[in-house]
Amino acid sequence: MTSDEQISGASNTTVSRILDGMEYGPAPENPVLARRWIEDHGGTFGFFIDGAWLPAEPEATFETIDPSDRSVLARVGRGGETQVDAAVRAAARAFPSWSGLTGHERARHLYAIARGIQKHARLLAVVESLDNGKPIRESRDIDVPLVARHFYHHAGWAQLCEREFPGHRPLGVVAQIVPWNFPLLMLAWKIAPALAAGNTVVLKPAEYTPLTALLFAEIVEHAGLPPGVVNIVTGDGEAGRLLVAHPAVQKIAFTGSTEVGRFIRRATAGSGKRLTLELGGKSPFLVFDDADLDSVVEGVVDAIWFNQGQVCCAGSRLLVQESVADTLLAKLKARMETLRMGSPLDKAIDMGAIVAPVQLDRIRELVTRGRAEGASVWQPSWACPDDGLFYPPTLCTDVSPSSTIAQVEIFGPVLVAMTFRTPDEAVALANNTTYGLAASVWSENISLALDIAPRIKAGVVWVNASNLFDAASGFGGYRESGFGREGGREGLWEYLRPDWELEEAPAGAADHRETVAVPVPGSRIDRTYKQYIGGRQVRPDSGYSHAVAGVNHGVIAHVADGNRKDIRNAVEAAHAAASWGRRSGHERAQILYYLAENLDQRREEYARHVRIATGWSTKPATREIEAIVARLFTYAAWADKHDGAVHDVPLRGVTIAMHEPIGVVGVLAPDESPLLGLVSAIAPLVASGNTVVAVPSALYPTPACELATLLDASDVPGGVVNVVTGDRTVLGEVLAGHLDVDGLWYFGDSDGARAVEFASAGNLKRTWTVIQRRAWLDTAQGEGPEYLRQATQVKNVWIPYGA
Ligand code: NAD
Repeated sequence: MTSDEQISGASNTTVSRILDGMEYGPAPENPVLARRWIEDHGGTFGFFIDGAWLPAEPEATFETIDPSDRSVLARVGRGGETQVDAAVRAAARAFPSWSGLTGHERARHLYAIARGIQKHARLLAVVESLDNGKPIRESRDIDVPLVARHFYHHAGWAQLCEREFPGHRPLGVVAQIVPWNFPLLMLAWKIAPALAAGNTVVLKPAEYTPLTALLFAEIVEHAGLPPGVVNIVTGDGEAGRLLVAHPAVQKIAFTGSTEVGRFIRRATAGSGKRLTLELGGKSPFLVFDDADLDSVVEGVVDAIWFNQGQVCCAGSRLLVQESVADTLLAKLKARMETLRMGSPLDKAIDMGAIVAPVQLDRIRELVTRGRAEGASVWQPSWACPDDGLFYPPTLCTDVSPSSTIAQVEIFGPVLVAMTFRTPDEAVALANNTTYGLAASVWSENISLALDIAPRIKAGVVWVNASNLFDAASGFGGYRESGFGREGGREGLWEYLRPDWELEEAPAGAADHRETVAVPVPGSRIDRTYKQYIGGRQVRPDSGYSHAVAGVNHGVIAHVADGNRKDIRNAVEAAHAAASWGRRSGHERAQILYYLAENLDQRREEYARHVRIATGWSTKPATREIEAIVARLFTYAAWADKHDGAVHDVPLRGVTIAMHEPIGVVGVLAPDESPLLGLVSAIAPLVASGNTVVAVPSALYPTPACELATLLDASDVPGGVVNVVTGDRTVLGEVLAGHLDVDGLWYFGDSDGARAVEFASAGNLKRTWTVIQRRAWLDTAQGEGPEYLRQATQVKNVWIPYGA
């Protein structure tokens, strides 16, 4: 060895020793500007209503704290009836002129807000980290840039709205309620699309994190937004409750816990208010044995320790293939040892503080419960800061899939690990939850990953990545994670309605009645219809039937008295037919065409059934059947054309928005146009891959009962369409309350809508309640993309690539 080599060897050793032993020094972001902003308001904030600041009464304020040291940051107003009412009224006053602006004018306002956010990015990030406890690295590099991105993206939608959503208009006043984990980002996800579509809003921030919403109000004020277009009312759950209940509110967009989501679903039942719910999750993080385990470790860090795990779509369930489990867990523990926790304003920390004492208690309680249920709990050797609300990154193993910590959303930095052997087992474990918000799939085999992604019931799937978001891509859940999407084109629909909804309702079947005597074939009580379940005509569980009177006759038939058991059997049959959803659009189209062809051949017979039931004359009855044939053709046509999209997100890769069926969907058919109305609901559902349990019109059930033979003759697989007759109110509530029914379409009156929406809160199934009578013959009202959108849910699959 030369002396030079000796020297460089020695110095290398020294350098590496120095590097290994080096500690991070503090690198704090300066909070002075943020503190000055609070001081300039005298430490107390009022409400932003009608473009002005309404002071809060001193006795009606509460503190917001810095969770990293429990110090009080400011006091904010506790909104009550007066403030909520004033804000909703201001929004209602502002609505006509705001919605009357051209898309371009609204786009300029949204653009000005985006610019304002960028100008104040640093202040917004610091205030967010102070109030929430999240690392400044996250608020500065993720939250705030995404907030600006949302307003830019939606300035674009405002500009394009008239062209891209013709025949649609905004809803009116939208109440928006957000949680504390991404206070400003959730605000942006809500306000930007609502304004772009022409709505006005009242937003209530979460009680623990109100400050950035108030700072946003100032930005809006300076951007010159007309008064009343955006109103901010701070307060607790009571302010949220009042906002939801306000009669002038047309829509509620809620993000928060499933528990409160359920409450809001019940509170709005039958009100006609639109509702979107973005709720909790227990998202799986699947690791297959061919995954790049070092990347996986960083993916896990992003999935569960981002924002201290207080993320609705946190990958909180690590499902790892058995053969690599030990290696992965060892690597993960090594990485956990190097995570840094500390002051949220320190630029070099990975984890900050938990938002509030109550949340910290909940995390501790659940981990204690996990231990009691047999889990092994591992935490790194370093100690958490003890002056604030901190909880260490935690890994739980020896967990059974049914245990509390594997099922309940902890909303903290706690990862629960389980193993699987086969891809099928991985999917079963992933779906073993009542939630369905997001999932990550890790494998170097893209073919395997893309086989798994559609099989997971979740609104977002990241392949070899986690927690990727963008304004161009919709975000939202399946099952108890809620319904509706935020972001992208799919998110805009949630803030629009068709123009014709404001037109006068058309006449119904009863209004068409004529006094024509249609001879009933055969004897007076010509036949007794059974239920149609699983492709077979079966007797009702009760054994009873009831008589149905024709309009110009006495009894024309008996129909089965279906009960809870019949619905249960039908739901089971519909689930057993789930492979229908995996058939190609082309195959489903073939069957719908065949159905149309068979109906066309028997059109006189079916027109006659309609005439006997409704008392219509030949002409409208024949027109009805012809319209059904055409409608079946429409959905046969759509079956392979309701395409998804590839979203243009800032990612080297693709984000595929797929339209997936909802699953098993209940249909309560309308009374007007009893057969056309029913088929108009069943056809789009079936074309999209759903299976259906249909309850026909109670007034005119017989034409629907005649469908059984037609479905049989047309090769519709058993269980795809099931027909249960009986008391609509009872059957509707059973369907709405059934935990294995994924969606429900209700056509009827507001009492019925209230009952089914209320009962649907159990599993938060997606409901579509149509109270306004539709002109079923009119193709604008009776068919089209609106039905297909209601029949499907968007899953966004993110696939980054690169060698
Ligand atoms: P939370 O449900 O307790 O509160 C959310 C908001 O609802 C708050 O503003 C609160 O004041 C308000 N609220 C409370 N009771 C109300 C009532 N009766 N009526 C109307 N409003 C009421 O939720 P949280 O603890 O603030 O947030 C955590 C939850 O949010 C987690 O479950 C998380 O998964 C969920 N979340 C979901 C998403 C998503 O996009 N799916 C995003 C972020 C957070």
